[in-house]
Amino acid sequence: MDKKKILIVEDEQKIARFLELELKYEGYEVDIANNGRDGLEKGKGEDVDLIVLDLMLPGLSGIEVCRRLRQTSDVPIIMLTAKDDISDKVTGLDIGADDYMTKPFAVEELLARIRVLLKRMQNGRDKSNLQILERGLLKLSKNNYKVEYDGENIDLTKKEFELLEFMMVNKNIVLTREKILDKVWGYDYFGDTNIIDVYIRYLRSKIDQKYNINLIETVRGVGYIIRD
Ligand code: CA
Repeated sequence: MDKKKILIVEDEQKIARFLELELKYEGYEVDIANNGRDGLEKGKGEDVDLIVLDLMLPGLSGIEVCRRLRQTSDVPIIMLTAKDDISDKVTGLDIGADDYMTKPFAVEELLARIRVLLKRMQNGRDKSNLQILERGLLKLSKNNYKVEYDGENIDLTKKEFELLEFMMVNKNIVLTREKILDKVWGYDYFGDTNIIDVYIRYLRSKIDQKYNINLIETVRGVGYIIRD
């Protein structure tokens, strides 16, 4: 895992320093900008994975920094707003910030939100970029609907393939039957979620049982998961 880089845009040195220490302790690389202009410059950097952006900044405001960044970048942005300024929050979210925290805040909550946004970003990238998904000896190629185990071709129907693909894209996330139904079958299907269990059985007989592996796990009462 490469280190994720987080940019803190905050003019209050004490807060910036505090966040820097906390984030570094969590294993992130950290850069700090003490004003809006500097934040905008650094925020455009290709290597920045997420920005913690204070709205109350001297010179260029946080809102303006966010607005300008969004013209060219989809980097996740968490705004820090003073007090309970509702209008700042609404404006910030309207112009493309992903989340906000009201000062003072518990650093654990900020860390949790950072993790969520980084994960969402990563999932999005994987979905759009990765043509080949792998898990152990199992290999799935999106562009030609091909699935192999240790080089051996596995014959799947289109739906089986789509179900497996969805589960591989969302590896390590528990997927409910409803979510699978919604994402894989979509709105053209009017039956109940039992169909998921049926297709999971098909996949298990073609992969898990055939190769004697534990690919698809049942999460009792919730759904299914493929773990790394
Ligand atoms: Ca400030």
